[in-house]
Amino acid sequence: MPSSKKNKASDSSKNLQMVISDGKGEAAASAVTGSAIAASYNDQIRPLLDAVDRLRHLKVTQEGIQLPTIVVVGDQSSGKSSVLESLAGISLPRGQGICTRVPLVMRLQDDPSADSPVLQLEHINGRVVTTTEANIAGSGKGISDAPITLVVRKRGVPDLTLVDLPGITRVPVKGQPDDIYDQIAKIIKDYISPKESIILNVLSATVDFPTCESIRMSQQVDRTGERTLAVVTKVDKSPEGLLEKVTMDDVNIGLGYVCVRNRIGDETYDQARVEEEKLFKYHHLLSKIEKSMVGIPVLAQRLMQIQATIIAKCLPGIVKQINDRLSRSSTELNQMPPDLVSVADAVREFIRIVKQVCSSLEKILVRGEFDEFPDDCHFHGTARIAEMLNAYAKKLPVEVPGRGGLFLMEEVRVLEETKGVNLPNFLPRSAFQRVVLVPQNLLSYTHDLVNEVWEYVEDLVSKVVLQHADNFPQVQSSCRRAVQMLMEKARARSAQHIEELMEMELVADFTANPEYMKTWYEIMESHEKFMDAVVDTSKSTLLNLVGFGEVDVSHLRVNSELAGQAFDLSARVTAYWKIIVLRLIDGLALHVLRGVKRLVESELERELSDELLGNKLAGVERMLMPSPGSGTKRERLKKSIVLLRQSKEVVANIMDRISASGEI
Ligand code: GDP
Ligand code: MG
Repeated sequence: MPSSKKNKASDSSKNLQMVISDGKGEAAASAVTGSAIAASYNDQIRPLLDAVDRLRHLKVTQEGIQLPTIVVVGDQSSGKSSVLESLAGISLPRGQGICTRVPLVMRLQDDPSADSPVLQLEHINGRVVTTTEANIAGSGKGISDAPITLVVRKRGVPDLTLVDLPGITRVPVKGQPDDIYDQIAKIIKDYISPKESIILNVLSATVDFPTCESIRMSQQVDRTGERTLAVVTKVDKSPEGLLEKVTMDDVNIGLGYVCVRNRIGDETYDQARVEEEKLFKYHHLLSKIEKSMVGIPVLAQRLMQIQATIIAKCLPGIVKQINDRLSRSSTELNQMPPDLVSVADAVREFIRIVKQVCSSLEKILVRGEFDEFPDDCHFHGTARIAEMLNAYAKKLPVEVPGRGGLFLMEEVRVLEETKGVNLPNFLPRSAFQRVVLVPQNLLSYTHDLVNEVWEYVEDLVSKVVLQHADNFPQVQSSCRRAVQMLMEKARARSAQHIEELMEMELVADFTANPEYMKTWYEIMESHEKFMDAVVDTSKSTLLNLVGFGEVDVSHLRVNSELAGQAFDLSARVTAYWKIIVLRLIDGLALHVLRGVKRLVESELERELSDELLGNKLAGVERMLMPSPGSGTKRERLKKSIVLLRQSKEVVANIMDRISASGEI
């Protein structure tokens, strides 16, 4: 595949290249996967692996996209490094350095043209580091979660990418931080939790598997073991009972066990393979283990197969995630305000914001169009205000307040007090007014309603303003102040209006509403029946009257003349009360609606402009100040978009290839 080679070369051109000739690994390099079948298999899987590696290189994981990964975990000294070296066929840097203190992404690449193995080591931030171990994880004995990448190109290695994690240490060694265990555990958990990760659990044959820390951890994230493969090392040291251990499977290893013997002492890697083969062939216990479960070559094959499967399974999802994130980031960037460089820019932006605010508010508070907030009922302004008005109408007393006590006695008392030199059936206005006096409770209901409406409107207006001024935290307090002042004014105006309404009710008793006469007639139709009951002592004093219900008239018999007038007075008051209540509801509703409309259509704009354009544009000038959030946000979005576009290209290429060859 010349093309993929070319890419690889350019990818890594900035990397330090180093030829390792340890004299051990290079001889018969094809021992592991040298067969023609393996080679063609590698040809097919390599483009996929390249794509995933390039995505990893692009750091898509920072965008929250998980890549299919084989993660190597194991307790300290379980033989992790040895397994990786056996797979690579060479010795890798050891000790306090890589492999043990930072996650190491190890990419093995079969390269028939590599006469001797080539190692490239690269820190994830692009910084190329030397292989002297001490530098790699920084100084000291701490742990770092920034992975480094080691590319091993060598003839005959299996095409595999593995992530080697720091070994699990229970007890910190001298100089290590006290919480070293927690640090390592967190790194391991981060790597093995995603369902895209395959867990390669390295277990030493010398220990009891259920007591392994690495088993405990992998079981936490993969309880059924469906993505866990076990490698059992040091089989030469502890062959007794191994067959039972791997066939009993006490620890739920879903993908199975592969037993291996790593290099011992000064052996070359080729010698080690030969010894391993002999061991599993002739050892009286180990030879009983099925051949499909033993040896580094088997492990290499299993891993390549698992890798191909998981990559094929994950790629479509990755494509989708890249596309989703790309469109989300692009939208977000588009919604960001343009760079403001002059006062004119700022004023223009300010006017744009005000227009948007007013148009949003007009929709939700005046026109009742909720397309901007389809699911958030709180923002359905016209509906919520209508609700408040209806609730208010229901709360107002339909009965004339202050009634109670004996039937019509209050009216009789008032008539006695206001009797002047009048015709006997003349009702003095003052009598009427004393009964109708708009009671205090009506006033408090009214204030409650107005306050509720304005409180709601203030909340809505603030939210909409702040939402549109989201990118300019520098001016948000000014906006908030403008809204508050505006609402103060609106409240004051409403209080004034209510006062006027009440005053008007007291100035005169008037209505052109025919409802008044209608109600009065309806009640007065019972006048005769009422008078009969009062005057005619043979009749019952209990009767049912329209507008009054069940009443007792016995106490009125002593003053039958005033009783007739009191009945009339009460009929008028009842009829008029109904009119007052309706007038109040209607008047207030229209007042409130007009107030909202005025606010949205002109006052808000004026108030915001006064606040931000006044004082020689001091307010909008603040919009030019770099806001802490938006600059970095823009940068972040731009970076993320570049990265996602590149990733998209990477996966598009590979998906094209896949569909062209009809594979997977
Ligand atoms: P790590 O801490 O998990 O990376 O473990 P290492 O790979 O450093 O191995 C720990 C020790 O076990 C080293 O001394 C290795 O040589 C030894 N070792 C690893 N695998 C085998 C094996 O299969 N057989 C024998 N006899 N020793 C092994
Ligand atoms: Mg190690």
